[in-house]
Amino acid sequence: MLTGRSLLVHCTANQALRCAPIARRPHGGLVISPQRHDEIGLLATAEYLVRRLGFDGPVLLDAARYAGTNRLPASAPFNPRWLRRQRELGLPVLTDSGYVGGGDEAGLVSILHRTMAVPGAIAALPLHPAWLRDRLHLTKLTGHVRAAGVPVALVLEARGDPFGLAGSVPGLLEILGCGVPVLLLRCDLSALGALCHGAVAAAVGTTAALRHLPPLEAVGGRPPPGPRPPSTIFKPTMSYRRITAIQRAKRSRPDPRLWSCDCPVCDGRDLDWMATLDERGREVPAFEHAAAILFALRDELLGEALPLARAARSWAARCADAAYREKELGWSATPMLRHWRETTPGENPVTVAA
Ligand SMILES: [Zn+2]
Repeated sequence: MLTGRSLLVHCTANQALRCAPIARRPHGGLVISPQRHDEIGLLATAEYLVRRLGFDGPVLLDAARYAGTNRLPASAPFNPRWLRRQRELGLPVLTDSGYVGGGDEAGLVSILHRTMAVPGAIAALPLHPAWLRDRLHLTKLTGHVRAAGVPVALVLEARGDPFGLAGSVPGLLEILGCGVPVLLLRCDLSALGALCHGAVAAAVGTTAALRHLPPLEAVGGRPPPGPRPPSTIFKPTMSYRRITAIQRAKRSRPDPRLWSCDCPVCDGRDLDWMATLDERGREVPAFEHAAAILFALRDELLGEALPLARAARSWAARCADAAYREKELGWSATPMLRHWRETTPGENPVTVAA
């Protein structure tokens, strides 16, 4: 099912049928989270996808019980029915873990130990950022992951891109060196970096909400934020940008080679064509264009048989080039580009923020 180096599309259950044709490709696949905690609805969607539509790529079901104001702690028991249903559908079994707080080492160990008791299961690890960024936490985490020896699927908490935070990229690289299969869920372009450094699979969210795990203080206490205006990937800068920002930038730099896109959605048009649609209408093409760019980048970087060390070097070089392009356009710098550029194995020592 998971063939390695897979780039997955992370969507909600109500988006799954629309995302399936995009994710049905070599080294593609889906991660599906429930819509408003409707786990039954998610299982029904997965069953339809696999049994009726014959979707034969990897599908992971993410119960997301670690997210939202009623999130469960890491010590919460797995739901045996949830694990069983995934197996019955012929899917990889991903645990329905609760959230691992910064001080919850016992919770972390409990998830890993309970996963060891489920044959072939992948431990979902929804982690407070300290687990990757703090040396002491990271040493404990990698020690427990090595000892458990089970595959892990990381979900990283952050207000924005977790890999924009100092220490996250080197922390991820250490986990990738633990000798167990590592997956990365709820991610954005750093999914490609993770794949180039040996992740088995990495998933990019269809919307901003599925590209990281927002901290509870950003969710609770206030009314939930309305949907953000759609962003999409501008390939030369390898970053998500609002469609309106792309339109503005094009006006100040009308170079056709820079703005046109040959993906099946844009079909040679300049990328700001989506600005002619209303905000809701932009959502689907913004995502379809982003997916096309991501899969194209995946294939360019990893190909079929390219050695990982070479992929990691190409990824670092592309990050450097994208950062240069951002500067040229007068856009704010995307910190993850710098963090990935600085951590090419063999060229820079891997360091972790204290
Ligand atoms: Zn396009």
